[in-house]
Amino acid sequence: MNQQTIKKSAHISGIGLHTGKTVDLTLRPAPENTGLVFRRTDFDPIVIIPATTQQVSDTRLNTCLSHAGASVATVEHLLSALSGLWIDNVFIDLNSAEPPVLDGSALPFVKLIQSVGVLEQAAQKQFIQIKKKIRVQEDDKFIELLPYQGFKMAMSIDFQHPVIMQTQQSLSIELSPTAYTEQLSYARTFGFLAEYEQLKQHHLGLGASLENTLVLDDMTILNEGGLRDNAEFVKHKLLDAIGDLSLLGHHLMGEFIGHKSGHTLNHQLRLALLNDTSAWDFVS
Ligand SMILES: [Zn+2]
Repeated sequence: MNQQTIKKSAHISGIGLHTGKTVDLTLRPAPENTGLVFRRTDFDPIVIIPATTQQVSDTRLNTCLSHAGASVATVEHLLSALSGLWIDNVFIDLNSAEPPVLDGSALPFVKLIQSVGVLEQAAQKQFIQIKKKIRVQEDDKFIELLPYQGFKMAMSIDFQHPVIMQTQQSLSIELSPTAYTEQLSYARTFGFLAEYEQLKQHHLGLGASLENTLVLDDMTILNEGGLRDNAEFVKHKLLDAIGDLSLLGHHLMGEFIGHKSGHTLNHQLRLALLNDTSAWDFVS
């Protein structure tokens, strides 16, 4: 299997979930072995921020990358779409500190990539193959990576909320671009009204609305159309985890099992994996 980029540039604009600011984003084809690379074009000179674990600067509400005084927040949905479609190399130009949230899922990015097409490159793709179990844990949350011939992900959540309790809270999926597109990409981000008020006080969530976030009060879901499917909450957690895992710089060959994991634990997992070189190998 070879590395992939996109056939030509693709542009999209919208507002950032936390900044609330309008942003123009352009995906551009990149040479082999470039990886996924953000470019803050509103800086002079342009600041380049590779989408790697080394650049992670904040994981509290989203995954934020920083370099040389510039940052990009909430990278996980765009990176999830690129990784989910097995794109290895792309430049991501943007003129603000956050990609557009669009509908709160990865589907608009998937459609954008599909609109220009995927290009196979000459260099072989390098996978990180898991050779032994890696586990990270915090309170009752955990993630494990296990050896597996393929890439399988399982996720479970455990919300004691009347709406979420009625949905499917665990899911296991064998990942491929088709499975990602058809089963995960459309799952939207979600939040609780009580937390939203706190976010606003901290000047965060300024772009959040019912257009881009599933919002729950104590008893119900406020979005008129309801859920896109009965597993949308757990699917969004998987979508986020795929975006966060892409910061390893390579696709995984292994099995991911997550329970209540979020951006911080996903980061701990990447660090634990990268620090234990006996646990994995590169394979083509
Ligand atoms: Zn998310």
